[in-house]
Amino acid sequence: MRSIAIVGGGQAGLPLAFGLLEQGYQVTVVTNRTPDDLRNGKVMSSQCMFDPSLQIERDLGLNDWEQQCPPVQGISFAVPHPEVPGAKAIDWSARLDRPAQAVDQRLKMSSWLEQVEARGGKVLIQDAGVAELEVLSEQHDLVILAAGKGEVVKLFERDAARSPFDKPQRSLALTYVHGLKRQPDYSSVAFNLIPGVGEYFVFPALTLSGPCDIMVFEGIPGGPLDCWREVRTPQEHLATSKDFLRKFLPWEAERAEHAELTDDKGILAGSFAPTVRKPVLTLPSGRLVFGLGDAVATNDPITGQGANNATKAAKVYLDAILAHGDQPYTRDWMEQTFEQFWDYAKWVVQWTNSLLTPPPPHILGLLGAAGQMPSLAKEIAEGFNHPPRYFPWWADAQACEELVAGHQAKAVAVAA
Ligand SMILES: Cc1cc2nc3c(=O)[nH]c(=O)nc-3n(C[C@H](O)[C@H](O)[C@H](O)COP(=O)(O)OP(=O)(O)OC[C@H]3O[C@@H](n4cnc5c(N)ncnc54)[C@H](O)[C@@H]3O)c2cc1C
Repeated sequence: MRSIAIVGGGQAGLPLAFGLLEQGYQVTVVTNRTPDDLRNGKVMSSQCMFDPSLQIERDLGLNDWEQQCPPVQGISFAVPHPEVPGAKAIDWSARLDRPAQAVDQRLKMSSWLEQVEARGGKVLIQDAGVAELEVLSEQHDLVILAAGKGEVVKLFERDAARSPFDKPQRSLALTYVHGLKRQPDYSSVAFNLIPGVGEYFVFPALTLSGPCDIMVFEGIPGGPLDCWREVRTPQEHLATSKDFLRKFLPWEAERAEHAELTDDKGILAGSFAPTVRKPVLTLPSGRLVFGLGDAVATNDPITGQGANNATKAAKVYLDAILAHGDQPYTRDWMEQTFEQFWDYAKWVVQWTNSLLTPPPPHILGLLGAAGQMPSLAKEIAEGFNHPPRYFPWWADAQACEELVAGHQAKAVAVAA
């Protein structure tokens, strides 16, 4: 049977490894952190995954936490009123047909990594660089590099045509908490947009100590939410999170009043530039390495799509490998497989990047109109499952106007 090495034991690499093992492939997972390193380390993501991605995990038998993890049942959206303190200029909420879920990657990846050998694979704990990739490529039919944002992925050339930003667009922070007040009707990703300042969203999740909520802060560089550099301790991080909410989002501050950190490692602050890379790396020997997941397409977390993308990419690659049978893994095959994924991912990237710059008038109009039209709010919410649905109207003012008019007609018909 063919042998495949996957470098990176994360949301992209491990589902692919399990899919290949199920089909009888020889799989070596090479990763630089042990299950204990992962479990005892800092949180890495907010990892909210929508139903189509969760379904890929279910199909691979990887949905171990589905019963314990609290559901995210909808999407809500608010913009503070520019003149009336404490009031909202935009405020809507819509239920998802099927819930999303977020399982702390410390819990998920450590447990998955422990399952690799039980399912017939090999695990090698190693920080792979060029020399290690050379050895792996000599020993395996295919080497896949799914090392996330690790230094090694910079070996893939940046694709300037697909990467409009060369600097981070947001200063990011995560605060994992217990004790956040529940929403009255159903749980949601409560997304708040503060023009010129940034975004805050919060949703239920499962962490090492049980159900929790994850607060995600996205600060425009140089603004008041770009405030994490001076924070020294976990308690200061929590206090900074709450101070910000008190100043800018009082309704969220009220929910967070009694919130406490889940643990001292339940915090994160940093930034990165969203980047798409060319998917094939040529080693000094001339052998090839194929990129997967964040290694070749990182998105800003503002739309919560990175882990979803990683899972969907793993599924595209799995199907392509299975369909390829015994044929050689050529550069053409790798590029075609990536393009197959890119046919989907280009919409995710375009939608995500569009939210990092000030919204054009048609998007402001759309988000405002959703407050009056529940069917429009639902259409926007369901798009998180499959962002290509946002097009053409997200990018095209005329198509957007037609979409809003269609929902308006529906709202009038319902009222009549
Ligand atoms: C603040 C924040 C919030 C986020 N929120 C969401 C969200 O709500 N929803 C969502 O879908 N996505 C979210 N994401 C993105 C999501 O976490 C990532 O897109 C996803 O984890 C990518 O999966 P991956 O397997 O490509 O990389 P990773 O999950 O990063 O896995 C890479 C693995 O490679 C290993 N590695 C690195 N270098 C080496 C090396 N040299 N040798 C061997 N192993 C190596 C790492 O240890 C790691 O195990 C968020 C990201 C951030 C930063």
